[in-house]
Amino acid sequence: MQYNIALIKGDGIGPEIVTAAVRVLEKVGERFGHTFVFTDYLLGGAAIDATGVPFPEETRVGCLASDSVLLGAVGGPKWDSQPATNRPEKGLLGIRKAMGLYTNLRPARLYPALKDECPLRADIVAKGFDLMMVRELTGGIYFGDHVRQDAAGGAQDPDTKAWDVEVYSVMEIERIARAAFEAAMKRRKHVTSIDKSNVLATSRLWRETVHRIAKEYPEVTLDDMLVDNTAMQLVRNPSQFDVVLTSNMFGDILSDEASQITGSIGMLPSASLGATRCGLYEPLHGSAPDIAGQNKANPLATILSAAMMLRYALDLNDEADAIEAAVDRCLNEGCRTADIARSTDARVLTCTEMTDEVLKRL
Ligand code: NAD
Repeated sequence: MQYNIALIKGDGIGPEIVTAAVRVLEKVGERFGHTFVFTDYLLGGAAIDATGVPFPEETRVGCLASDSVLLGAVGGPKWDSQPATNRPEKGLLGIRKAMGLYTNLRPARLYPALKDECPLRADIVAKGFDLMMVRELTGGIYFGDHVRQDAAGGAQDPDTKAWDVEVYSVMEIERIARAAFEAAMKRRKHVTSIDKSNVLATSRLWRETVHRIAKEYPEVTLDDMLVDNTAMQLVRNPSQFDVVLTSNMFGDILSDEASQITGSIGMLPSASLGATRCGLYEPLHGSAPDIAGQNKANPLATILSAAMMLRYALDLNDEADAIEAAVDRCLNEGCRTADIARSTDARVLTCTEMTDEVLKRL
Protein backbone atom coordinates (compact mmCIF):
# COMPACT_ATOMS: atom_id res chain seq x y z
CA MET A 1 0.00 0.00 0.00
CA GLN A 2 1.06 3.60 -0.57
CA TYR A 3 0.36 6.29 2.03
CA ASN A 4 0.81 10.06 1.68
CA ILE A 5 2.17 11.54 4.88
CA ALA A 6 2.39 15.31 5.44
CA LEU A 7 5.47 16.16 7.50
CA ILE A 8 5.66 19.29 9.60
CA LYS A 9 9.14 19.43 11.05
CA GLY A 10 8.51 22.79 12.69
CA ASP A 11 11.01 24.57 14.92
CA GLY A 12 13.75 23.83 17.45
CA ILE A 13 14.38 20.08 17.71
CA GLY A 14 11.44 19.44 15.32
CA PRO A 15 13.58 18.70 12.22
CA GLU A 16 15.84 16.28 14.18
CA ILE A 17 13.02 14.24 15.72
CA VAL A 18 10.83 14.14 12.60
CA THR A 19 13.84 12.97 10.56
CA ALA A 20 14.28 10.18 13.12
CA ALA A 21 10.62 9.12 12.79
CA VAL A 22 10.85 9.17 8.98
CA ARG A 23 13.84 6.79 9.09
CA VAL A 24 11.81 4.43 11.27
CA LEU A 25 8.74 4.62 8.99
CA GLU A 26 10.92 3.91 5.94
CA LYS A 27 12.29 0.78 7.63
CA VAL A 28 8.75 -0.31 8.56
CA GLY A 29 7.73 0.28 4.93
CA GLU A 30 10.59 -1.95 3.70
CA ARG A 31 9.80 -4.70 6.21
CA PHE A 32 6.03 -4.78 5.69
CA GLY A 33 5.85 -3.81 2.00
CA HIS A 34 4.38 -0.29 2.21
CA THR A 35 5.46 2.93 0.55
CA PHE A 36 5.27 6.14 2.54
CA VAL A 37 5.39 9.26 0.40
CA PHE A 38 6.48 12.19 2.57
CA THR A 39 5.78 15.84 1.74
CA ASP A 40 7.17 18.67 3.88
CA TYR A 41 4.95 21.57 4.93
CA LEU A 42 5.70 24.68 6.96
CA LEU A 43 4.01 25.64 10.23
CA GLY A 44 4.86 27.87 13.18
CA GLY A 45 8.10 29.83 13.34
CA ALA A 46 9.59 28.26 10.21
CA ALA A 47 6.44 29.27 8.31
CA ILE A 48 6.57 32.83 9.66
CA ASP A 49 10.21 33.12 8.50
CA ALA A 50 9.46 31.80 5.01
CA THR A 51 5.99 33.17 4.30
CA GLY A 52 5.16 35.77 6.98
CA VAL A 53 2.29 33.70 8.47
CA PRO A 54 2.30 30.71 10.90
CA PHE A 55 -0.23 28.59 8.94
CA PRO A 56 0.22 29.06 5.17
CA GLU A 57 -2.60 28.08 2.81
CA GLU A 58 -0.32 25.53 1.12
CA THR A 59 0.05 23.73 4.47
CA ARG A 60 -3.72 23.69 5.02
CA VAL A 61 -4.46 22.29 1.57
CA GLY A 62 -1.56 19.78 1.64
CA CYS A 63 -2.36 18.44 5.11
CA LEU A 64 -6.08 18.04 4.38
CA ALA A 65 -5.24 16.10 1.21
CA SER A 66 -2.83 13.70 2.97
CA ASP A 67 -3.54 10.37 4.70
CA SER A 68 -2.07 11.73 7.91
CA VAL A 69 0.10 14.48 9.40
CA LEU A 70 3.23 13.98 11.50
CA LEU A 71 4.38 17.05 13.43
CA GLY A 72 7.59 17.75 15.39
CA ALA A 73 7.01 20.89 17.45
CA VAL A 74 6.62 24.60 16.88
CA GLY A 75 7.69 27.77 18.66
CA GLY A 76 10.73 29.24 20.30
CA PRO A 77 12.21 32.48 21.66
CA LYS A 78 13.00 33.75 18.15
CA TRP A 79 9.30 34.44 17.56
CA ASP A 80 8.37 35.68 21.06
CA SER A 81 8.26 39.28 19.82
CA GLN A 82 5.68 38.47 17.11
CA PRO A 83 2.23 40.02 17.68
CA ALA A 84 -0.22 37.61 19.41
CA THR A 85 -2.14 37.16 16.14
CA ASN A 86 0.94 35.94 14.27
CA ARG A 87 2.76 33.66 16.72
CA PRO A 88 3.83 30.06 16.03
CA GLU A 89 1.10 28.69 18.37
CA LYS A 90 -1.51 30.29 16.09
CA GLY A 91 -0.29 27.85 13.46
CA LEU A 92 -1.04 24.90 15.75
CA LEU A 93 -4.51 26.18 16.63
CA GLY A 94 -5.11 26.88 12.94
CA ILE A 95 -4.24 23.40 11.75
CA ARG A 96 -6.25 21.75 14.56
CA LYS A 97 -9.28 23.83 13.61
CA ALA A 98 -8.84 23.30 9.85
CA MET A 99 -8.63 19.52 10.35
CA GLY A 100 -11.61 19.50 12.78
CA LEU A 101 -9.61 17.63 15.42
CA TYR A 102 -12.01 17.08 18.34
CA THR A 103 -10.32 14.05 19.93
CA ASN A 104 -7.00 14.08 21.74
CA LEU A 105 -5.40 10.72 22.53
CA ARG A 106 -2.56 10.74 25.03
CA PRO A 107 -1.14 7.45 26.19
CA ALA A 108 0.68 7.47 29.53
CA ARG A 109 2.69 4.35 30.10
CA LEU A 110 5.31 3.45 32.65
CA TYR A 111 8.24 1.73 30.97
CA PRO A 112 9.65 -0.83 33.41
CA ALA A 113 13.16 0.18 32.31
CA LEU A 114 12.42 3.80 33.30
CA LYS A 115 10.66 3.05 36.58
CA ASP A 116 13.23 5.08 38.52
CA GLU A 117 11.91 8.21 36.78
CA CYS A 118 8.40 7.64 38.17
CA PRO A 119 7.60 9.91 41.13
CA LEU A 120 5.13 7.40 42.68
CA ARG A 121 5.70 4.99 45.61
CA ALA A 122 7.62 1.78 44.89
CA ASP A 123 4.62 -0.53 45.48
CA ILE A 124 2.53 1.48 42.96
CA VAL A 125 5.40 1.53 40.46
CA ALA A 126 5.76 -2.24 40.83
CA LYS A 127 2.22 -2.73 39.46
CA GLY A 128 3.02 -0.51 36.42
CA PHE A 129 0.44 1.33 34.35
CA ASP A 130 -0.51 1.80 30.71
CA LEU A 131 -3.45 4.09 30.13
CA MET A 132 -4.89 6.23 27.34
CA MET A 133 -6.49 9.59 28.02
CA VAL A 134 -9.20 10.41 25.46
CA ARG A 135 -9.95 14.12 25.81
CA GLU A 136 -12.63 16.14 24.01
CA LEU A 137 -10.77 19.00 22.33
CA THR A 138 -13.14 21.50 20.72
CA GLY A 139 -16.08 21.95 23.13
CA GLY A 140 -16.93 22.57 26.77
CA ILE A 141 -15.98 25.48 28.97
CA TYR A 142 -12.95 26.60 26.92
CA PHE A 143 -15.25 27.31 23.96
CA GLY A 144 -18.32 28.64 25.84
CA ASP A 145 -18.97 32.33 26.63
CA HIS A 146 -16.27 34.03 28.72
CA VAL A 147 -17.77 37.08 30.36
CA ARG A 148 -16.50 39.69 32.80
CA GLN A 149 -18.95 42.20 34.24
CA ASP A 150 -17.21 45.03 36.06
CA ALA A 151 -19.17 46.94 38.69
CA ALA A 152 -18.49 50.66 39.28
CA GLY A 153 -15.39 50.03 41.41
CA GLY A 154 -13.70 47.76 38.84
CA ALA A 155 -11.52 44.83 39.86
CA GLN A 156 -11.69 45.67 43.60
CA ASP A 157 -15.50 46.05 43.65
CA PRO A 158 -17.17 43.13 45.50
CA ASP A 159 -19.95 43.15 42.87
CA THR A 160 -17.57 42.65 39.93
CA LYS A 161 -18.15 39.19 38.43
CA ALA A 162 -16.87 36.88 35.73
CA TRP A 163 -18.22 33.61 34.37
CA ASP A 164 -17.35 30.96 31.81
CA VAL A 165 -20.01 28.75 30.31
CA GLU A 166 -19.68 24.99 29.83
CA VAL A 167 -21.84 23.72 26.96
CA TYR A 168 -21.89 20.20 25.51
CA SER A 169 -24.32 18.94 22.89
CA VAL A 170 -25.33 15.28 22.58
CA MET A 171 -23.56 15.21 19.19
CA GLU A 172 -20.26 16.34 20.76
CA ILE A 173 -20.51 13.78 23.56
CA GLU A 174 -21.53 10.95 21.24
CA ARG A 175 -18.56 11.44 18.91
CA ILE A 176 -15.92 11.63 21.67
CA ALA A 177 -17.51 8.65 23.44
CA ARG A 178 -17.27 6.62 20.23
CA ALA A 179 -13.60 7.66 19.89
CA ALA A 180 -12.97 6.33 23.41
CA PHE A 181 -14.79 3.04 22.81
CA GLU A 182 -12.95 2.58 19.49
CA ALA A 183 -9.63 3.18 21.28
CA ALA A 184 -10.65 0.68 23.98
CA MET A 185 -11.41 -1.94 21.30
CA LYS A 186 -7.74 -1.68 20.24
CA ARG A 187 -6.61 -2.02 23.89
CA ARG A 188 -7.90 -3.81 27.01
CA LYS A 189 -11.61 -2.98 26.39
CA HIS A 190 -12.23 -0.90 29.50
CA VAL A 191 -13.44 2.73 29.52
CA THR A 192 -13.61 4.93 32.62
CA SER A 193 -15.77 7.98 31.89
CA ILE A 194 -14.98 11.05 33.99
CA ASP A 195 -17.57 13.59 35.09
CA LYS A 196 -18.88 15.65 37.98
CA SER A 197 -22.46 14.46 37.64
CA ASN A 198 -23.22 15.07 41.33
CA VAL A 199 -23.03 18.83 40.56
CA LEU A 200 -23.02 19.67 36.83
CA ALA A 201 -25.85 19.41 34.28
CA THR A 202 -23.31 18.95 31.45
CA SER A 203 -21.87 15.98 33.36
CA ARG A 204 -25.30 14.39 33.76
CA LEU A 205 -25.89 14.67 29.99
CA TRP A 206 -22.35 13.37 29.48
CA ARG A 207 -22.97 10.29 31.64
CA GLU A 208 -26.38 9.51 30.10
CA THR A 209 -25.00 9.82 26.55
CA VAL A 210 -21.83 7.80 27.22
CA HIS A 211 -23.96 4.95 28.66
CA ARG A 212 -26.19 4.97 25.58
CA ILE A 213 -23.17 4.81 23.21
CA ALA A 214 -21.66 2.03 25.35
CA LYS A 215 -24.48 -0.27 24.16
CA GLU A 216 -22.87 -0.16 20.68
CA TYR A 217 -19.72 -1.71 22.20
CA PRO A 218 -20.91 -4.71 24.24
CA GLU A 219 -17.33 -6.05 24.57
CA VAL A 220 -16.18 -2.91 26.40
CA THR A 221 -16.66 -2.50 30.17
CA LEU A 222 -17.70 1.02 31.19
CA ASP A 223 -17.22 2.63 34.62
CA ASP A 224 -17.98 6.18 35.73
CA MET A 225 -15.68 8.12 38.04
CA LEU A 226 -16.00 11.60 39.51
CA VAL A 227 -13.20 13.92 38.42
CA ASP A 228 -11.94 14.66 41.94
CA ASN A 229 -11.69 10.95 42.71
CA THR A 230 -9.88 10.41 39.37
CA ALA A 231 -7.20 12.96 40.28
CA MET A 232 -6.60 10.91 43.43
CA GLN A 233 -6.82 7.48 41.80
CA LEU A 234 -4.23 8.45 39.16
CA VAL A 235 -1.58 8.70 41.84
CA ARG A 236 -2.94 5.96 44.15
CA ASN A 237 -3.64 3.21 41.66
CA PRO A 238 -3.05 4.15 37.99
CA SER A 239 -2.92 0.47 36.98
CA GLN A 240 -6.76 0.32 37.24
CA PHE A 241 -7.17 2.50 34.10
CA ASP A 242 -7.21 1.49 30.45
CA VAL A 243 -9.04 4.23 28.49
CA VAL A 244 -9.99 7.39 30.42
CA LEU A 245 -12.71 9.45 28.67
CA THR A 246 -12.92 13.13 29.60
CA SER A 247 -14.36 16.50 28.67
CA ASN A 248 -12.03 19.26 27.51
CA MET A 249 -11.19 20.91 30.84
CA PHE A 250 -11.12 17.76 32.97
CA GLY A 251 -8.87 16.17 30.34
CA ASP A 252 -6.55 19.16 30.22
CA ILE A 253 -5.82 18.77 33.91
CA LEU A 254 -5.88 14.97 34.21
CA SER A 255 -3.77 14.32 31.10
CA ASP A 256 -0.98 16.51 32.49
CA GLU A 257 -1.18 14.59 35.76
CA ALA A 258 -1.07 11.28 33.85
CA SER A 259 1.94 12.36 31.79
CA GLN A 260 3.83 13.54 34.88
CA ILE A 261 3.54 10.17 36.62
CA THR A 262 5.43 8.54 33.74
CA GLY A 263 8.36 10.79 34.66
CA SER A 264 9.77 11.27 31.15
CA ILE A 265 8.42 13.89 28.72
CA GLY A 266 10.74 12.80 25.90
CA MET A 267 8.82 9.51 25.70
CA LEU A 268 5.22 10.68 25.34
CA PRO A 269 3.37 10.61 21.99
CA SER A 270 -0.06 12.03 21.19
CA ALA A 271 -2.69 12.00 18.49
CA SER A 272 -5.44 14.45 17.60
CA LEU A 273 -8.26 13.01 15.52
CA GLY A 274 -11.34 14.35 13.77
CA ALA A 275 -14.18 12.99 11.72
CA THR A 276 -11.87 11.62 9.00
CA ARG A 277 -9.03 9.15 9.51
CA CYS A 278 -6.50 11.91 8.74
CA GLY A 279 -5.21 12.96 12.14
CA LEU A 280 -2.32 14.94 13.56
CA TYR A 281 0.38 12.99 15.38
CA GLU A 282 2.97 14.74 17.52
CA PRO A 283 5.11 14.33 20.63
CA LEU A 284 3.77 15.88 23.80
CA HIS A 285 6.86 17.96 24.39
CA GLY A 286 7.70 21.29 22.76
CA SER A 287 10.50 22.44 20.47
CA ALA A 288 13.17 22.34 23.23
CA PRO A 289 15.11 25.38 21.93
CA ASP A 290 17.75 24.83 24.64
CA ILE A 291 19.02 21.68 22.88
CA ALA A 292 17.99 22.40 19.27
CA GLY A 293 20.53 21.59 16.57
CA GLN A 294 22.77 19.65 18.98
CA ASN A 295 21.62 16.12 18.13
CA LYS A 296 20.74 15.60 21.82
CA ALA A 297 16.95 15.29 21.58
CA ASN A 298 15.18 12.09 22.53
CA PRO A 299 13.43 10.98 19.31
CA LEU A 300 11.29 8.29 20.98
CA ALA A 301 8.14 10.40 21.60
CA THR A 302 8.04 11.25 17.88
CA ILE A 303 8.83 7.67 16.83
CA LEU A 304 6.00 6.49 19.13
CA SER A 305 3.73 9.19 17.60
CA ALA A 306 4.51 7.65 14.20
CA ALA A 307 3.48 4.25 15.65
CA MET A 308 0.18 5.79 16.81
CA MET A 309 -0.28 7.18 13.30
CA LEU A 310 0.12 3.71 11.82
CA ARG A 311 -2.38 2.26 14.32
CA TYR A 312 -5.08 4.95 14.30
CA ALA A 313 -4.84 6.61 10.88
CA LEU A 314 -3.72 3.75 8.68
CA ASP A 315 -4.96 0.66 10.60
CA LEU A 316 -1.48 -0.87 10.46
CA ASN A 317 -1.52 -2.53 13.88
CA ASP A 318 1.29 -5.07 13.36
CA GLU A 319 3.54 -2.31 12.06
CA ALA A 320 2.73 -0.11 15.08
CA ASP A 321 3.37 -3.07 17.42
CA ALA A 322 6.77 -3.61 15.76
CA ILE A 323 7.86 -0.01 16.44
CA GLU A 324 6.65 -0.09 20.03
CA ALA A 325 8.41 -3.43 20.62
CA ALA A 326 11.66 -2.04 19.17
CA VAL A 327 11.45 0.99 21.50
CA ASP A 328 10.78 -1.33 24.47
CA ARG A 329 13.80 -3.43 23.58
CA CYS A 330 16.03 -0.34 23.25
CA LEU A 331 15.05 0.79 26.74
CA ASN A 332 15.32 -2.69 28.26
CA GLU A 333 18.79 -3.06 26.74
CA GLY A 334 19.97 0.21 28.28
CA CYS A 335 19.81 2.68 25.37
CA ARG A 336 19.45 6.18 26.84
CA THR A 337 19.44 9.74 25.50
CA ALA A 338 20.52 12.47 27.93
CA ASP A 339 17.01 13.23 29.22
CA ILE A 340 16.43 9.66 30.46
CA ALA A 341 20.03 8.81 31.39
CA ARG A 342 21.27 8.35 34.96
CA SER A 343 24.73 9.44 36.06
CA THR A 344 25.63 5.73 36.25
CA ASP A 345 24.85 5.11 32.55
CA ALA A 346 28.07 4.35 30.70
CA ARG A 347 27.09 6.01 27.42
CA VAL A 348 24.53 8.63 26.48
CA LEU A 349 23.21 8.35 22.94
CA THR A 350 22.60 11.17 20.49
CA CYS A 351 19.27 11.54 18.69
CA THR A 352 20.74 9.82 15.61
CA GLU A 353 22.30 7.00 17.62
CA MET A 354 19.05 6.30 19.49
CA THR A 355 17.25 6.14 16.13
CA ASP A 356 19.93 3.72 14.85
CA GLU A 357 19.27 1.50 17.90
CA VAL A 358 15.51 1.45 17.17
CA LEU A 359 16.21 0.60 13.50
CA LYS A 360 18.49 -2.30 14.53
CA ARG A 361 15.63 -3.81 16.53
CA LEU A 362 12.94 -3.40 13.87
P1 NAD B 1 9.72 21.90 25.92
O1 NAD B 1 8.90 20.65 26.00
O2 NAD B 1 10.14 22.30 24.56
O3 NAD B 1 11.03 21.73 26.83
C1 NAD B 1 10.98 21.52 28.24
C2 NAD B 1 12.28 20.83 28.68
O4 NAD B 1 12.24 19.47 28.25
C3 NAD B 1 13.53 21.45 28.06
O5 NAD B 1 14.57 21.40 28.99
C4 NAD B 1 13.85 20.56 26.90
O6 NAD B 1 15.21 20.50 26.55
C5 NAD B 1 13.36 19.21 27.41
N1 NAD B 1 12.87 18.36 26.29
C6 NAD B 1 11.70 18.50 25.61
N2 NAD B 1 11.63 17.58 24.65
C7 NAD B 1 12.75 16.84 24.72
C8 NAD B 1 13.24 15.74 23.98
N3 NAD B 1 12.58 15.18 22.97
N4 NAD B 1 14.45 15.24 24.31
C9 NAD B 1 15.15 15.76 25.34
N5 NAD B 1 14.74 16.79 26.09
C10 NAD B 1 13.54 17.34 25.77
O7 NAD B 1 8.85 23.04 26.63
P2 NAD B 1 9.15 24.61 26.72
O8 NAD B 1 10.60 24.84 26.95
O9 NAD B 1 8.16 25.10 27.69
O10 NAD B 1 8.73 25.18 25.30
C11 NAD B 1 9.67 25.48 24.27
C12 NAD B 1 8.90 25.96 23.04
O11 NAD B 1 8.06 24.88 22.57
C13 NAD B 1 7.97 27.14 23.32
O12 NAD B 1 8.03 28.03 22.24
C14 NAD B 1 6.59 26.51 23.41
O13 NAD B 1 5.56 27.40 23.04
C15 NAD B 1 6.73 25.38 22.40
N6 NAD B 1 5.80 24.25 22.60
C16 NAD B 1 5.31 23.68 21.48
C17 NAD B 1 4.48 22.59 21.58
C18 NAD B 1 3.97 21.96 20.31
O14 NAD B 1 4.51 22.21 19.26
N7 NAD B 1 2.95 21.12 20.39
C19 NAD B 1 4.16 22.05 22.84
C20 NAD B 1 4.72 22.64 23.98
C21 NAD B 1 5.55 23.74 23.85
